[in-house]
Amino acid sequence: MKNANDISEFYLSEVSPLLPPEILDFHAHTWVSENWKFKPWETEHEGGKYMVTDENYPPEKLLADARRCFPDKRYEAVVFGYPTPAVDPEKDRLFVADAARRHDGLFPLLLAGKDFNLSLQQTKDQLREGGFWGFKVFLNWMGNDYAEIGVEDMLGDNEMALAQEHRLIVMLHVPRAGRLADPEIQRGVRKLAQEYPEAQIVLAHCGRCYLPSEMKRAIDSIRRLPNVAMDTSMVMDPLTLQIAVDAIGPERLLYASDFPVAAMKGRRVRVMDHWVDVVTDEYPDSAYRAKSNDIRATYMGVEIAVAVCDAAAQTGISDEERDGIFHTNGKNLLNRVRRHEIGGG
Ligand SMILES: [Zn+2]
Repeated sequence: MKNANDISEFYLSEVSPLLPPEILDFHAHTWVSENWKFKPWETEHEGGKYMVTDENYPPEKLLADARRCFPDKRYEAVVFGYPTPAVDPEKDRLFVADAARRHDGLFPLLLAGKDFNLSLQQTKDQLREGGFWGFKVFLNWMGNDYAEIGVEDMLGDNEMALAQEHRLIVMLHVPRAGRLADPEIQRGVRKLAQEYPEAQIVLAHCGRCYLPSEMKRAIDSIRRLPNVAMDTSMVMDPLTLQIAVDAIGPERLLYASDFPVAAMKGRRVRVMDHWVDVVTDEYPDSAYRAKSNDIRATYMGVEIAVAVCDAAAQTGISDEERDGIFHTNGKNLLNRVRRHEIGGG
């Protein structure tokens, strides 16, 4: 049914001509399971099967997946580890820092969370030692058991003070079932953005708004927050992205994959009021994953790019603005980080 020729033909004729020569993926993971305390999907924990994925995803594998998706482009990525209770944060931090040290074009973020209880100096030392560009919030729950925590419960004052002082990247994965459409989440994001106006906040997965209806209810909340951007990881609905571009313009959107998840072949689609990953039948079972050997499919990383391009065409932004989503917008954020002040390598 499907074959490699289809994939490269589709990419080269339909996608590649719309992309700039360099792609900055603002959300990619790298990890090895020896840095975990347990494997979520081997536990009885509810939510453990939420996103079953590669146990080992070293940077070499990430870069190979990127090459498969975008064979004719230069690829760079903002990377971080495995942000769940399964991970040993110490080992994870050293692993991600080492990955970035060994490979050009990887910009590492430090896993951080209130639960880590680090002092300002300890946090600063970790940033410096690992050459980190900012923080990725640690998710203190399994799967989609998002509980009732708020945005402010995720990062401590020390992290935010450092982000303010050095304009660090703060990647937030917003909690709660309502996502960025939840008024409580909106209040939390607004509070952080306004209290720390130099912090460069990025909402992972467009604030987890994969569906147009969610984006519609969410996007106004960040319209007047210039230091809040969104990454497009796993967002494959062009209408969702169109609503975002119409509301806040293209400058605060950042192409992102979420490798290794987006290395699957298939597409995330809306079915009734939730997303479903429709994938080829070579992947393990997982929640909200429908498998078929009856479809032809390319990598989700490419499908995200297609959705961005469709939204760009529909909103009528310029080619340069579209290129910005894939590269320049993210580069601008990284260039603003005052890394020399923390002594990052
Ligand atoms: Zn992710």
